[in-house]
Amino acid sequence: MKFSELGIDPSILSALDDAGYTDPTQVQLEAIPAAIAGKDLLVSAQTGSGKTAAFLLPALTKMTQRTDVKSNGPRVLVLTPTRELAQQVEKNALEYGKNLRWLRTVCLVGGSPFGFQIRAMTRPIDLMVATPGRLMDHMRSGRIDFSRLEMLVLDEADRMLDMGFIEDIETIVAATPAARQTVLFSATLDGTVGNLARKLTRDPQRIEV
Ligand code: AMP
Repeated sequence: MKFSELGIDPSILSALDDAGYTDPTQVQLEAIPAAIAGKDLLVSAQTGSGKTAAFLLPALTKMTQRTDVKSNGPRVLVLTPTRELAQQVEKNALEYGKNLRWLRTVCLVGGSPFGFQIRAMTRPIDLMVATPGRLMDHMRSGRIDFSRLEMLVLDEADRMLDMGFIEDIETIVAATPAARQTVLFSATLDGTVGNLARKLTRDPQRIEV
C-alpha cells in the first residue's frame, strides 16, 4: 500500500515525496485512514516506528478539508512529555505541511521565553504542540481558547504519566470540547495508561504494531 492510497491530502503527499518517504510504516498504514475517518485511536508504538507522521499526516489532512475555520485557539493539540519531542513534532509538521500556506504552528515548552510564545498566540493557530507543564502555565493566565479544538493527540502517554503529568493532562483535557477526536500513542496500553485512555476516548480503535 502506498501513501497515496491512505486518503492523505495531495499537497502533503508531495511534501512526503520531497522528504524521500516512499512507503508507509505499519503504524502509519493502520492509523492514518482510521484517524482521517475521525476514529479515536489507542496506538501502541515505539519511537522509530514512524508514529509522529502517523498522527501528523491525518491531523494536517483533516485541517485542509476545512480551511474556513477562523480561530485564535488551536484546531489540533499535540501533548508530548519533553521539550525535545515537542520541537521535533513541530519541525516534522512544518516539513509535511510545507505546501500548506495557511498553516500556523506554535510550540509551548519550558526553557524558552514566555514573551515569544505569547506573541505567537496573538495570531490564529492551527497546530499547537506543548508539554503539559508549560501549557498549564499559559492556561492559568487565560491565554488559550480550546473551543475550536478538533483533535487532541497524546504522544508517549506512558512517559507523560511517568513524569507525573496526570493531573495536568486531566485539567487540559477538561478544557477541550467533548466532541473532539482523541488519539493516544504509548509504548504500553495497560495499567494507568489504559485507565487514562478509557477516560479520554470514545469507542477507540486499538492499534498494536
Ligand atoms: P518516529 O517514530 O515518529 O520518531 O519516526 C522515526 C523516523 O522515521 C523519523 O526520522 C521520520 O522522519 C522517519 N519516517 C517516518 N515515517 C517514515 C516513512 N514512511 N518512510 C521513511 N521515513 C520515515
